[in-house]
Amino acid sequence: RAVGLTLFDRLLNIESNLFFTINHMADRKELEKYRWLNKMFDSIYVIENGKPTDIIFGTDVIDVELNQKQKNHLKTKGLLTIGDKDEGFYPLVVLAIDAESDKYMVGNVNLSYFWSIYVNGNDVFCVVVDKTKLVFCSDGNEEIKKQAFDDSGSIIDFKTMAEKEPYSVSIKQHEYVGNVWDVFLEPQYGVDSFLILYFVRKKEAFYSYELYKSVFPKALFITLLIVYLLSSVQMRRSLDPLQKLTQGVKNIIAGNYSERVNIQSNNEFESLATSFNNMSSQIESQFVKINTLSKIDRLILSASDIEYIAEVLLEYMPNILPGDHFSLMVISDEASRLALVYYFDDEESKVIKKTNIVLAENEFIELQESTGIIKMDKEDRSYFSIEKIRGCDLFLAYPIHDNEKLLATILIGLESNVKHGEHSYDDIKEISDRAAVAISNAQWEKKLFQQAHFDALTNLPNRYLFKDRLEQAIERAKRNNLNVAVFFLDLDRFKSVNDSLGHAVGDKLLVEVSEVLLKCVRTYDSVSRFGGDEYTIVMSDIPVDQVEEKTEQLANRILTMMSDPITIDQREFFVSPSIGISIFPKDANNFDELLKNADAAMYKAKKLSSGNFQYYQPIQNSEVLEKMQMEVDLRHAVKDEEFELVFQPKLNLRTGKINGVEALIRWHHPEKGLIPPNIFIPVAEETGLIKTIGYWVMKEACAYNKKWQDQDMYLSTAINVSTEQFRHPGFFQKINEILDETNTTATNIELEITESITIDDFVKTSELLEKLRELGFKVCIDDFGTGYSSMTYLQQIPVNKLKIDKYFVDGIAKDSDAASIVSAIIALAHNMNLKVVAEGVEKLEQFQYLNDINCDEVQGYLLSKPLPADDIIEFVESYNKQSEYKVE
Ligand code: C2E
Ligand code: CA
Ligand code: CA
Repeated sequence: RAVGLTLFDRLLNIESNLFFTINHMADRKELEKYRWLNKMFDSIYVIENGKPTDIIFGTDVIDVELNQKQKNHLKTKGLLTIGDKDEGFYPLVVLAIDAESDKYMVGNVNLSYFWSIYVNGNDVFCVVVDKTKLVFCSDGNEEIKKQAFDDSGSIIDFKTMAEKEPYSVSIKQHEYVGNVWDVFLEPQYGVDSFLILYFVRKKEAFYSYELYKSVFPKALFITLLIVYLLSSVQMRRSLDPLQKLTQGVKNIIAGNYSERVNIQSNNEFESLATSFNNMSSQIESQFVKINTLSKIDRLILSASDIEYIAEVLLEYMPNILPGDHFSLMVISDEASRLALVYYFDDEESKVIKKTNIVLAENEFIELQESTGIIKMDKEDRSYFSIEKIRGCDLFLAYPIHDNEKLLATILIGLESNVKHGEHSYDDIKEISDRAAVAISNAQWEKKLFQQAHFDALTNLPNRYLFKDRLEQAIERAKRNNLNVAVFFLDLDRFKSVNDSLGHAVGDKLLVEVSEVLLKCVRTYDSVSRFGGDEYTIVMSDIPVDQVEEKTEQLANRILTMMSDPITIDQREFFVSPSIGISIFPKDANNFDELLKNADAAMYKAKKLSSGNFQYYQPIQNSEVLEKMQMEVDLRHAVKDEEFELVFQPKLNLRTGKINGVEALIRWHHPEKGLIPPNIFIPVAEETGLIKTIGYWVMKEACAYNKKWQDQDMYLSTAINVSTEQFRHPGFFQKINEILDETNTTATNIELEITESITIDDFVKTSELLEKLRELGFKVCIDDFGTGYSSMTYLQQIPVNKLKIDKYFVDGIAKDSDAASIVSAIIALAHNMNLKVVAEGVEKLEQFQYLNDINCDEVQGYLLSKPLPADDIIEFVESYNKQSEYKVE
């Protein structure tokens, strides 16, 4: 391209010089001065009509025949023609001097000027005209041919060929590669294009490429090698430590804290590893601590056994606290200076040992008051005298408090002083806080367990523990084919002890009874207090064929031992229990049923007579049901007027006349017929129905009394007042209302109360009795002798009469003891200005004896059974009429 442009530029220069020539052709001499024209042109001449007419200079004049197209072109521009002389190449540049007159200036261009174009080194350029004529090659004229032929002798069409591909030729034994550029001359010079062929020696053209081809792989290889070497060095420097550190982190994540990262690279990695190791050893110690503490938490915080807590603490404390010997001193819950020191006798086998010690007072105070570690270098405290710790160099005591109460003390012995530096106050506090919670919790739980399972009064197991033990016994019996017996005990008339002597005495009695019971049973039987005056006994592991014999033995042993009086506050008590017995698996096979059946058997025993035992019999349950049904029926009885009063006459032994009656209730059950009061009165008392029934009795009795008075029959009517009723706050008012309503006078009414009423609340009862007596009521102590009130006690109570119980009257004819008791009661009563009534007199002997010893009144079947209201007046009238001779 450069060659082409140079040629084109040269043509422009040639044209402009030719033009210059035209302008100066008039002055030839002047023109000759311009020597460069000689260089540029071989000759310059003027042609007219195709013939040279004027030669400006030179000799080489060639004819130029211009065709019409060329002439047209020359009107405006220059023209280049190729003169054709001797097959050579003569470039002629033509310019019009006067186109009208066909006059032109022709410049025959000097070839060496024309072709003198500088090329690089061995490069060759050739110029082709008319597509096929090779007119110039820069490497020598010999190569110039008019026509270029290929090897096969055909004319080479350079343009077509060059358009196809770069081609190679061989010039002077050298391989060349070339390309073509088209210098487009037609528009400017009216001539076909020059093709510039430019050849470069192949070797030179591809030199850098070849060089590159041979050097690059080596360079690349070396570069890669260097890169590889450098990077592997670099990798070893950083990748390896990084890998180690990564592994270190993985270890920590996996919970393996003891593994250390080992990097010795003398650079920042090494210091990183060092700090990493420091960190992981710190994490390790923290984790060991946290783990240990949480292990301790898990093990002890819910534990209720102090020994176990101590064991756990002793096992784990060494993980957290530095020291050589550990022990834990737990202060006794009962007595503060008593303590138990726990320690491992042998640190390897972890066998726990304990030693009781008594703290000196100053030692206790010191521990109680200190809030931190007490250090000493001699074992001059009693609690350091345990063999294990003795002989250490340093002793540490760390007291544990709970709300200022000293609970325990951690005792540590160190064999060398040095270790003490590591002792962390925080760590020991962590342990001691936990110990405090666990120990106080365990003590509290022990207390709760005691409270929940043992009766506070007698210290016997309560019903819950009883249930537990019975169930265990049942399980054992099931496995071993044995029997279990359940004893249900209820103290007879215990209520009246409580009522008459107060709860304090009652409580003492219950404690005494429990001790007696414990003496009766075998060591592995269990006695529990079921509630109130009820006790239960589980007799376990009884061989089937001995069950009757063994239970009978125990029941009899209890009854015999209880028949001895129990002395409380210098007072003697006779307590008799009623015992019900049920047997597993004969009577029932679970706790509830066994208990229910023993209870039912006990009721039966109680009903038969006091102080005996009964085995469970299946019908018994129906009695309980009966009792429940009775309660329902009793409620109806009041509304439906099923009650009736009967009256039993009382004979006055002084006058020989009947002067009073006792009102006794009768229940005519619509289906069951007559139900006796000692069956339904206790039920009425239990259910509170007694109040309604009692006031009904009172009103009815008062009304009859009034009626009799109106018939001129003056009788005193004794009314039974149950304890429940007497205690009723409205009692006094109600009784007054009844007097008003029935229009009776109190003087005709006798109130029969039991001993138990009188002493319960002594002051209140006395006041009430006094008020009643002021109104005119007489008060009589019923069933005297069966309760616990003594004669001296009676002295202080405002009553008028004693009614000696049938029990003593029955004894009169049988044994002299009973007779003398009755006689003594009468004498004493009279001494105290009290009248005496004897009830249940059935035999003449009894009557006579009572008469002999100055009893005031008698009542009993001998005289008359209780009679309906309608019959009593008749009976009294007829009796009193005949009384004189009858008594005598
Ligand atoms: P209590 O007050 O000791 O009444 C005497 C009981 O002895 C009466 O029985 C009477 O029938 C019975 N009795 C009288 N003489 C003899 C006799 O010679 N031999 C025998 N074996 N028994 C005799 P009853 O009526 O069955 O009453 C029993 C108990 O029921 C009474 O004993 C009393 O505690 C209570 N009771 C009866 N009626 C009432 C009442 O209206 N109110 C209250 N609160 N209790 C009553
Ligand atoms: Ca009575
Ligand atoms: Ca009585």
